[in-house]
Amino acid sequence: MNVLVINCGSSSLKFQLIDTETEQVSAKGLCERIGIDGQLIYQKNSNEKEVIAQEMPTHAEAIQVVINILTDKDLGVISSLDEIDAIGHRVAHGGEKFSKPAFITEEVFNELGACNELAPLHNPVNLIGIKACDEFIPNTPMVAVFDTAFHQSMPERAYLYGLPSRYYDQYKIRRYGFHGTSHKFVSDRASELLSVHNPKIIVCHLGNGSSICAVNNGKSVDTSMGFTPLEGLVMGTRSGDVDPAILSYIAEKENMSISEIMEVLNKKSGVAGISDVSSDFRDLEEAANLGNRKAKIALDIFSYRVAKYIGGYAAAMNGVDSIVFTAGIGENAITIRKEICSYLTYLGVVFDQEANNTRGSEREISKKGSKVKVFVIPTNEELAIANETAAVIQL
Ligand code: ADP
Repeated sequence: MNVLVINCGSSSLKFQLIDTETEQVSAKGLCERIGIDGQLIYQKNSNEKEVIAQEMPTHAEAIQVVINILTDKDLGVISSLDEIDAIGHRVAHGGEKFSKPAFITEEVFNELGACNELAPLHNPVNLIGIKACDEFIPNTPMVAVFDTAFHQSMPERAYLYGLPSRYYDQYKIRRYGFHGTSHKFVSDRASELLSVHNPKIIVCHLGNGSSICAVNNGKSVDTSMGFTPLEGLVMGTRSGDVDPAILSYIAEKENMSISEIMEVLNKKSGVAGISDVSSDFRDLEEAANLGNRKAKIALDIFSYRVAKYIGGYAAAMNGVDSIVFTAGIGENAITIRKEICSYLTYLGVVFDQEANNTRGSEREISKKGSKVKVFVIPTNEELAIANETAAVIQL
């Protein structure tokens, strides 16, 4: 099945056209600077990337740009839109309503609108993308695949906060968790690699945004991001867990509003804020190697926090069979994986330095006989969305 995967961000739109039978990507691209000047970065098969200036005042024009390029005589990969069998949309938040991908009907579209206030920066643009596809690629089945859905299996003890219960009753304030598509994709793959009945897996999705998920027998039972993606690990620019009382203290000291404080927590904190160097781990490692103390401590804090969460989730599941690293940092940062695993010998992790040092795709980085198997498994959210879309359509 030929699935067009659409991922609308606040000023960008990523797309891929994937054949789910062969897992081949025939075309992919990124429309960026939507609403500013607009540019399309496009790649057909595995040809060189092309950068094409294109005006895109809104996401609706960006969808039009995607259609034009996919059907273009020279650069395109299809001769008509009929060759697109289905469209899979990444949707940031599905609230408590959506615990799995949903076939988009008018009713579902309206229900998605009700989730907007839970993700005000992301969900509304996701809906614009859905609407534009409905208009420009009519009569093609569409599926919404949610970042939150996989975590809807968490028990109350994991998703409720220590707040007055009426906040949950009235406003649905609870842990939702994110990166669900990736956590599911990677933990499903780890389950295949393990020959264990009811496996207990901890997935560390470490990228610009980072989260950890405890997966017991295929179901998310806890995860580190919360009501928003701000909770949990120290990330590129997000603070992760902090004592909430710090916020009112800073607000008073620096005469700041709540929204200014939120801006600091989301965009100016994390390893970027700690180091004053960068949010990118390549820059941090380079600076640390040159003796930058703050870059070194930022990396130390990052690894330490990951290790603490792993310990917490091993306790939550009363054991762990496998720990998996994925996403930009998890797949590439050799030293970070080594640092994190150095805290985990008590769990029975026997780390394989040599396997960790090799670059490449999926691999085990624990030694034969290690009680807990440690894997690097590349995530592929677009392929996961395409597969989930195809599964819903074929039901
Ligand atoms: P996003 O959350 O934007 O999808 P990614 O999963 O692509 O992020 O991760 C991006 C991050 O991965 C970069 O900011 C960088 O910190 C890290 N990264 C990528 N390659 C390397 C590398 N070779 N070594 C260390 N860190 C890396």
